[in-house]
Amino acid sequence: IKKIGVFTSGGDSPGMNAAIRSVVRACVYHKIECVGIYRGYQGMIEGDFKPMDARSVNNIINKGGTILKSARCLEFKTAEGRKQAYDNLRKEGIDAFVVIGGDGSFTGAHIFAQEFNFPVMGIPGTIDNDIYGTTFTLGYDTALNTVVEVIDKIRDTASSHNRLFFIEVMGRDVGHIALNVGVGAGAEEILIPEEDLGLDRLLDSLKRSKASGKSSSIVVVAEGDTTGENVFELKKYVEKHLPIYDVRVSVLGHMQRGGAPSCYDRVLASRMGVSAVEALLKGESDKMVGVQDNKMIFTPISKAIKGHTVIDTELIRVSDILTI
Ligand code: ADP
Repeated sequence: IKKIGVFTSGGDSPGMNAAIRSVVRACVYHKIECVGIYRGYQGMIEGDFKPMDARSVNNIINKGGTILKSARCLEFKTAEGRKQAYDNLRKEGIDAFVVIGGDGSFTGAHIFAQEFNFPVMGIPGTIDNDIYGTTFTLGYDTALNTVVEVIDKIRDTASSHNRLFFIEVMGRDVGHIALNVGVGAGAEEILIPEEDLGLDRLLDSLKRSKASGKSSSIVVVAEGDTTGENVFELKKYVEKHLPIYDVRVSVLGHMQRGGAPSCYDRVLASRMGVSAVEALLKGESDKMVGVQDNKMIFTPISKAIKGHTVIDTELIRVSDILTI
């Protein structure tokens, strides 16, 4: 392998820039060329390439977002689109790539690797932590810190007015963000898709909380949770059946994806980038780099995209105990 392409694809997450920097510098260190591909698969199909050297990634380790931009690209789902991408890579002399993205981006990479026998390596970049084969995805830790900080602020106003807040956080179909920020911010209740509390238990819990002398309550709701239709329906339900609270809703939205990466995410990105490049140089392909027990591990992409992450049940118990 003489020239590696690197790109970010799908939803962005903090730490992607740190991963790009790591891939580029690991290539320079190992005396191979590195090319940045803009806007993910879209840029691959359009030939939007830029040679990268060690200095082209100066001052980005601390930046949120991605300097290579990200995109969703329907054309890459077609054989013609992928052939065009392959021809462009060959023309540029790129003989392997590192994709930083989520499930969808990995599915595309896996199909591409199989179709053209092309070496690819994946780095899991998403705040949702919903990828099998790694304990932590890039951006997850930063998102947890961002959300906890916001909930702390909401708590200040909630306790000043005896309010009940439903706070919806991201996480797609999994409750990792909700469960962790819920414990970290001391929420009264945490609603996650993995555990169906049911509306009655929610009401009981809120009643108990009020009776125990608490003046305000925070309920963290994962976006994928199905206890209520959505947070606004939850508000209506509680207002109707438990009129002791002044209920408010806050949907945190895309701010959760932004901001400077935490130190943990920068270190993780740095390790993953080096591991991905060195794995390609060793002849590995069609794998994703992950972290487990603080060690870098590799999982076939085909497994990573099929597998499911599991929620930490011990943490659910801890939360139940501490909200007494
Ligand atoms: P994420 O990587 O964050 O999960 P998406 O699901 O939007 O984001 O996927 C990003 C891109 O990966 C898509 O826009 C598409 O170009 C490519 N991709 C996703 N699924 C496939 C597929 N089945 N075949 C080929 N390419 C795919």
